[in-house]
This record gives sequence, C-alpha cells and structure tokens, in this order.
Amino acid sequence: DVMENCIKRGLGAEGQLPGGLNVRRRAPQLAARLKVLRESEIVNTQLWPMVYAMAVNEENAAGGRVVTAPTNGAAGIIPAVLHYFRKFNPHANQSRVEDFLLTAGAIGILYKTNASISGADVGCQGEVGVACSMAAGAYAEVIGGTPKQVENAAEMAMEHHLGLTCDPVGGLVQIPCIERNGIAAEKALKLATLALLEDGTDKKVSLDEVIQTMLQTGRDMK
Ligand code: SF4
Repeated sequence: DVMENCIKRGLGAEGQLPGGLNVRRRAPQLAARLKVLRESEIVNTQLWPMVYAMAVNEENAAGGRVVTAPTNGAAGIIPAVLHYFRKFNPHANQSRVEDFLLTAGAIGILYKTNASISGADVGCQGEVGVACSMAAGAYAEVIGGTPKQVENAAEMAMEHHLGLTCDPVGGLVQIPCIERNGIAAEKALKLATLALLEDGTDKKVSLDEVIQTMLQTGRDMK
C-alpha cells in the first residue's frame, strides 16, 4: 500500500525538488504524455514502469514516504515493476503480489548477507543494481518462472549493472538517480521476460557468482 500510494503521490505532484539543483518533477507530465501516445498506439505499455519509478524517486527526493527497497535511492524499481504487473497483467492477484514481494526480499537478503547494498560501499551497482536484480527475479516468479529462471533473471539484472558508480550531482539523490531507477525498472521487466524464453540450464554465471563479482568490483572501484 505504501508503494502504491507513493506512485500515486509522485504522479500527482508538480514543481521543483528541494536541494538547490532546481530539478523539476517530470513524472506527472511524462504520464500525461504517455497516455496520449498510448491512445494513439505509438508507445508500448512497457514504458509505464519507467514513469512509475521516476514518480517514486521524485517523492524520495522530496522527502516523501517511500519503502526502502533495498535503499531509498533505489526505492522506485520494485514498486514500479509490481505496479506494472498489477495494472497490466490479467492474472495479477493478492497471492502473486505476496510472491513478488517475498521473492524480491529473498534475493535482497542474498545481496545483503553476502555482499553489500550500500552505494557508499560498493557503488550504485549495490543499490540500483540490486533493486533491479530483486525486481527481475520477482517479476520472473509471478509470470510463471521456475526457480532456475528466477535465478537467471536476477543474475542477468546484476550482470548488466556491474561497475555502476555512485556519483550523484551535488550529493543529492536526483541526478542520475531518478532516471536510473526508471531505466532499471524497464531492464528488470525485459530480463525477466528473456529468462522465461529459455530454461536457463546452460547459463555460465550463477546468481551467487554475480553477487560475489559485484562485491569484488565494488572493492576494485575504491
Ligand atoms: S547514484 Fe544515486 S541511486 Fe545510485 S547509489 Fe548513488 S545515490 Fe543511490
């Protein structure tokens, strides 16, 4: 409910974000534009998660209430993918929402226990990368993935964030954080779908291995 309300508030809020960078909230206008484009069938509905994620991260930047998932800077990705699933998938129900959150949580625990979810510690790969991995695995679960496919989705999502630095402009969690959450939400959806097109048994890199690689990469980046 907190995630849903956060998206709703972010889509309804206008104006500038605090902090002095004069960053304008973009999610409401993007949503309005997307509705027009969708009606004319130019834009695929898969662009919505980007806007949902940006709405959450604009709320975070404004000091609004978010769900730490796994951090506040990366708080938009999981709500965006979950909201997209609830809104656009005819098979979405409460039980699958719970499966989504439990799967995301389980994957997040692996990162927290075996590596790090701190941007200050391992860079943005530990924040946005981990959130993307959690969301990709969770989405693969609720669209019918096997445990192997869930693992592969989560692994691929981290694999393509390795080396991502944390270097926000002015120290504010706005640029590149807000757009970065949107891009990661899109990536999570696509990689989960990709994982379900294959059985995943011949993959060369496991989720455990990519978690360790992320940790080592974070150490190297220092
Ligand atoms: S770049 Fe932004 S979202 Fe990524 S770790 Fe740094 S502060 Fe967090």
